[in-house]
Amino acid sequence: MKYSNFMEVTFKAMSVNEGFARVCVASFCVQLNPTVDEITDIKTAVSEAVTNCVVHAYPTAVKGDVILRCELEDDVVTITVTDKGVGIRDVVKAREPFYTSKPSSERSGMGFTVMESFMDEVQVVSNSFGTSVRMSKKISENVSTVAG
Ligand code: ATP
Ligand code: MG
Repeated sequence: MKYSNFMEVTFKAMSVNEGFARVCVASFCVQLNPTVDEITDIKTAVSEAVTNCVVHAYPTAVKGDVILRCELEDDVVTITVTDKGVGIRDVVKAREPFYTSKPSSERSGMGFTVMESFMDEVQVVSNSFGTSVRMSKKISENVSTVAG
């Protein structure tokens, strides 16, 4: 391993923080010189994972924490989004396209599918103490393009 770096931030599970999480990860990943498309993919996946914490993890009025970690190892970005909420009883079912536990008028059930299509690998670990979504993506070797 030639290059290694990481950052971690914790914020409250509020929708106002979704944009913060996107920008935070995008800014940190700039050091790998990603293309605009790569950074857009990462921002979209982070947005879906953080939105899930906001919408599903803490169903009561008291909102808990979201821990966003971003690790860079050579040309691979690994992002972990963790909450300490209610957890997902059936992760396999939750990852199916169009599955949502909310009324379909509210959500489309495509969050995990989006994460899977924009990232190379997505792992979900969940129990009654919370959920952790770990996703990684290889950044291509670019010489000139820098995206923010
Ligand atoms: P969409 O993302 O399209 O708005 P959605 O959030 O319901 O809809 P997914 O993101 O694919 O769809 O998630 C599927 C289901 O997994 C959710 O409906 C919810 O039941 C469960 N889930 C996802 N993330 C969490 C989480 N962090 N905590 C608890 N449950 C979750
Ligand atoms: Mg979702």
